[in-house]
Amino acid sequence: MHTVIHIALGTAYSLGLKEGSSLVPPGTAHLLNSGKCRYDCAYCTRARTSQSHEDYLCRVPWPAFEEEGVFGALGKNEEKFSRVCIQVVNSKNHLQVVSDYVERITDITSLPISVEIRTSRLVDVERFLTLGAEYVGLPLDVASPRLFPDFRGGTLGDNLSFLFDAINEFKGCVGTHLITGLGETEKEMTELLTGIVRNDIPVGLFAFTPCRGTRMEKSPPPSISQYRRIQIAKYLISEGREEDVTYDDYGKISSFGLEDSELHRIPPDIFETQGCEGCNRPYYNERPAGRPYNYPRPLTDEEFQTELRETLE
Ligand code: SF4
Repeated sequence: MHTVIHIALGTAYSLGLKEGSSLVPPGTAHLLNSGKCRYDCAYCTRARTSQSHEDYLCRVPWPAFEEEGVFGALGKNEEKFSRVCIQVVNSKNHLQVVSDYVERITDITSLPISVEIRTSRLVDVERFLTLGAEYVGLPLDVASPRLFPDFRGGTLGDNLSFLFDAINEFKGCVGTHLITGLGETEKEMTELLTGIVRNDIPVGLFAFTPCRGTRMEKSPPPSISQYRRIQIAKYLISEGREEDVTYDDYGKISSFGLEDSELHRIPPDIFETQGCEGCNRPYYNERPAGRPYNYPRPLTDEEFQTELRETLE
């Protein structure tokens, strides 16, 4: 019998299950099932061979609570959130466990539900949508076909092809996300983003965060500049201007092909967290101090100018 569920620390504060508060409150309640995953993604704290503590996912603590207490508090604090997101670890009985979560949440709130799951079966996507989820995220994570087999298992081509199958079957209800800084070149990331964005597939960006106990614990995170270049490239793709982006011999973006005045007219919100509507994921990849990879709130004009200046230097 599964009775324990993990929730992100900011969610625990908002639900009143932990003393404290977030600098920026989360717009989404984040839940996570327990157990080790049957997959072995090189960067993941819940991976099969990871030595990380179960209470961590990425750099954020996800303490465990009794399910009853979490769902009870969620029902009473619905107005604090605009969405519930369930991160699925492919542990024992995960399909039943997460199906139960979706049913319970739809019983006690009217909040839209997102389910983020690694699967290669359309029937699993259909299952969660039928139970009441609004959106199913099928993470690709790794943008490099060179690195995908080792870092995630399987091939990028097969996983991309499944994503397209799911989009064709459940248009508007499926998307993905990618992790910047796993060792892919900026060209590899931009080329993959082009195929995804040009096909209107929602895609969220994360920054790689080395976590203790994982296979990649000693690998460096990406620079903020690298992350900004990918955010700008993603915007240009959405505007149909990916042909303007050029690269050096190492696959690093060398130019966006834009006049300075055009760069200063790009919308500041491209540096904000992107993903499901209402999701700001505060401090998921970064410490609260300093420049975040993803801003969990609108940027001030000064912040935006600083970001552009430091990225383009
Ligand atoms: S499938 Fe998801 S939960 Fe499982 S190891 Fe990979 S990233 Fe972690």
